[in-house]
Amino acid sequence: MALKNNRLDHKTYQENFAEINKPLNSVEASMEASRCLFCYDAPCIKACPTGIDVPLFIKQIASGNVRGSAKTIISSNIFGGGCSRVCPVEVLCENACVLTQHNNPIHIALLQRYSTDVAMSRSWKLFSRKSSNGKKVAVIGGGPAGLSCAHKLALEGIDVTVFEKEKAAGGLMTYGVAAYKTTPEFCHQEIDWITSVGGIEIKYDSAIQGLEAFRNIREKHDAVFLGAGLGATRKLSIPGEELEGVFDAISFIYDIRTKNHSEIQVGDKVGIIGLGMTAIDAATQSKRLGAEEVSIVYRRSSNEKPCTEKEYELAKSDGVLFIWLASPKEIVGEDGRVVKLMCNKMKLSEPDASGRLKPVKTGETFAFDVDMVIKATGQEPLVKLLDEFEISHSYGRIIVNQFGETNLEGVFAGGDCVNGGKEVVDAVEAGKLAAIGILRYLGGEK
Ligand code: SF4
Repeated sequence: MALKNNRLDHKTYQENFAEINKPLNSVEASMEASRCLFCYDAPCIKACPTGIDVPLFIKQIASGNVRGSAKTIISSNIFGGGCSRVCPVEVLCENACVLTQHNNPIHIALLQRYSTDVAMSRSWKLFSRKSSNGKKVAVIGGGPAGLSCAHKLALEGIDVTVFEKEKAAGGLMTYGVAAYKTTPEFCHQEIDWITSVGGIEIKYDSAIQGLEAFRNIREKHDAVFLGAGLGATRKLSIPGEELEGVFDAISFIYDIRTKNHSEIQVGDKVGIIGLGMTAIDAATQSKRLGAEEVSIVYRRSSNEKPCTEKEYELAKSDGVLFIWLASPKEIVGEDGRVVKLMCNKMKLSEPDASGRLKPVKTGETFAFDVDMVIKATGQEPLVKLLDEFEISHSYGRIIVNQFGETNLEGVFAGGDCVNGGKEVVDAVEAGKLAAIGILRYLGGEK
């Protein structure tokens, strides 16, 4: 058993990492749109964290007004194109659709994708920016929250500078989701389209490190938005974590997004720890890179799984195995390399604070052969950075009011660094709300 790259031929890599959801053409979009009941008080709107007027944009598609539909979507969600690809709509708008009762919800995401794809491919300018009013805002972090905030501010004539630590903007959208959901190329196009409104300068390779740098930014700008996301993957704190062959899912997916697929090493037998969306993305992509056996270890049962049913079915169809009621106890090595994953057998007891049944150890253990372990156990909050910047937080989540205002004068925040790690669409909404807060603040409102 060994970690190896270049396991598959070029054509197979291309097929394995092609987008799963095929777009609708104009005829298909028109037919799908015509199924919508255009509900009064539509539940699909309430289920969208950004409140997109779903029946309106679908009606606009049905009547041939694609430009109008794109404007309806983008007015609420500047990442409407990306969200149509990565949102877990099966638990959001499409789950709320009244036709879900008949197992046939409107394909809202595909319609949204159709509309925004047409708008982007034709480079439609849906908004025009007010002329510059001389106010300057710094946005730290060019992910969905940061760019959502930047776009809304730029429209109002604010000059926005985005400080992005990576070589490209988009945050986890660009670097942290499976390629078969959305390609890095699409992410770059979407960001170019978003910033084409003007008034947004993105400084790449520009991490804000240290209190001095943060103070400097505050002094030079009228307000600051912090959309810094989260930090490194949580440690397991079990023996063997330092062995060769142990990876964290965020870095693994980052490599897949930024390198040729043939360069990425993967094991014959891969053990994935965790069962969120990132774990599913790491597991399915391990299989798609040519791993022979991929097993997800989860400490609860399938009834409590945090991934959606759609993600679960996708992983199963890729041949991913699931080991329920198992919690990692030790990563066993030989000559410094991973050879086994030893787990505690668990059982479920009383509900915990989250309402789910709490897993407890049975006292029994088991082990299985692996040559690669991928930790998908969530990301640590940026506690050290927040303490250094003197930003109030609760266990690493920044404390803000409804408009994202922190304890520091003129400093706002939103996205994962506030909510602890939610969906892209939640970050977009947080950026929007913070932009409203910043505009009120700059206008002298309390
Ligand atoms: Fe259309 Fe479904 Fe929304 Fe009703 S709930 S407006 S049918 S998408």
